[in-house]
Amino acid sequence: MRFSDIRGCSALADALAGMVDSGRVPHAIMFHEDDGGGGIPLVLAFLQYLYCQDRRRGDSCGECPECNKIGKLIHPDVHFIFPVAGKDLASKYMEEWRGLVKENPWFRESDLDSALGIEGKQGIISVAESRGIIDALSLSAVQGGWRSIVIYLPEKMNQQAANALLKNLEEPSESTVFLLVTHSPESVMTTIYSRCLHMRIPPLSEEDFLAVHPEKSPDYNAFSDLFHDIVVAIETRDLTSAIEAGEAMAALPSREKQKNFCRAAGESLRRIFLLQQGLGSIARIPEDEMDFYRDAAAKLPKKFPRIALTHFDRASKLVGSNVNQKILFSDLVNRLYSI
Ligand SMILES: [Zn+2]
Repeated sequence: MRFSDIRGCSALADALAGMVDSGRVPHAIMFHEDDGGGGIPLVLAFLQYLYCQDRRRGDSCGECPECNKIGKLIHPDVHFIFPVAGKDLASKYMEEWRGLVKENPWFRESDLDSALGIEGKQGIISVAESRGIIDALSLSAVQGGWRSIVIYLPEKMNQQAANALLKNLEEPSESTVFLLVTHSPESVMTTIYSRCLHMRIPPLSEEDFLAVHPEKSPDYNAFSDLFHDIVVAIETRDLTSAIEAGEAMAALPSREKQKNFCRAAGESLRRIFLLQQGLGSIARIPEDEMDFYRDAAAKLPKKFPRIALTHFDRASKLVGSNVNQKILFSDLVNRLYSI
């Protein structure tokens, strides 16, 4: 991720690059973003600039080994903390985290919960997590340069976790930077909040927003009609209608739209899953679609959402390759019908 890949916040990008250029990097920066508004992409672009070995006109090169490691989220001196469920530590979920950021760095909080499989549970940043950070900071940087701690949603830290971290924020060791991304600055422990430099990420323009959240696109209604058709056909064991729905998917006007449809279907399947788990309240189901979802949750087998999700994921990946669209989607329908 380079600054030039970031949407709609070039002034912030310039300010961040300026800090690095002048050697005045604050020890803690808190970015306020709207959910899905690009806090993590900006943090990654900043880190890439901070570590890059070949900076070019206010941006990282995107090619050197440091840029590469940051881009892949595998830099040994960059640590990521995010809320997880129960007594787990974020480090247990690095693979899911990398997958999520790779899929869409502009992800939303609910996307993280889905990726970690903790929908409906209370994600927290625990005191054990804070202690892990302190341990990591007690060692010198593996590569001898900056050590960075990225904390996504510091508002999910309880008092204990915040207290454990405080000393490091108050008396930071040299060449250490904390980068926090919050949706709710007013809920962050004051002790943490007051020790950060604050930056507000401007809300995305409508065009930028739809580019990174296609599920919110004007195609949504068409997509959801199509999804309803296939689900109803499966519920009623109506093979002819199921095949027709597959043909309609193959007839969507572009590969991009077919991909977006698969993504939107994934979102709908998560809603069915949540309803089946008795967690409808957090499924964000539009009022006028409630009957459809209730019906689907009651009639489809419990295993349906999970298995169907893997089929849609697979189809979404194959859309980009050179396969025949008709065969691809009739195969998808076949697989869904057989669950
Ligand atoms: Zn570089």
